Amino acid sequence: MKFEELKEQVEKCNHCHEKFGFLPHPVFWGDKDSKIMQISQAPSNTVHEKMKPFTDMSGKTLKYDWYQISDEEFYDTRNFFIGAMAHCYPGKDSRGNDKAPPKVCFDKWILKEVELVNNEVYIIIGAKAAKAFFPNKSFEELVFNNQEINNKLAIVLPHPSPLNKKWLRDHPKFMEERIVEVRNIIKNVIRSQK
Ligand code: SF4
Repeated sequence: MKFEELKEQVEKCNHCHEKFGFLPHPVFWGDKDSKIMQISQAPSNTVHEKMKPFTDMSGKTLKYDWYQISDEEFYDTRNFFIGAMAHCYPGKDSRGNDKAPPKVCFDKWILKEVELVNNEVYIIIGAKAAKAFFPNKSFEELVFNNQEINNKLAIVLPHPSPLNKKWLRDHPKFMEERIVEVRNIIKNVIRSQK
């Protein structure tokens, strides 16, 4: 399958309509030659409404505090393919938390995207996405060391959600050291010629 066909099919997908109980809004952001393929958990309700990834509180932390890049750089599809474990917001559970991303999306679409995108670097965000790509490694080991997917550099980050403050408090070296290394890698990649 070609990248453009895949994109068209994802954007029309309503496979989870019954499961969600509302019309899915697949969010697709990226190009087949995006330099960085970022894969996080699933769109939030805000992203579901705006149809643009990382336009919520998590996005502010990720773009401006952690990466320290502009919206122009982040949303430029020559730089970032902004994917997730599921393309759609999955709704809330009975406790008011976002439900887990439906696994079907990873098998049906995301693995194909990983095959088709000609990126240089992967950024995997959050414990669920990290587990899917690296089932046998601890989350701490993944975050604090460079990894590989398809023989390319892979970086694993905690989720920038405000709900993740405890992890950041418990691992101060992430903000003191690791994110500085990650930021430098990202800036070098997006400011280089492909
Ligand atoms: S989450 Fe994935 S599989 Fe489910 S409707 Fe959205 S695009 Fe389709």
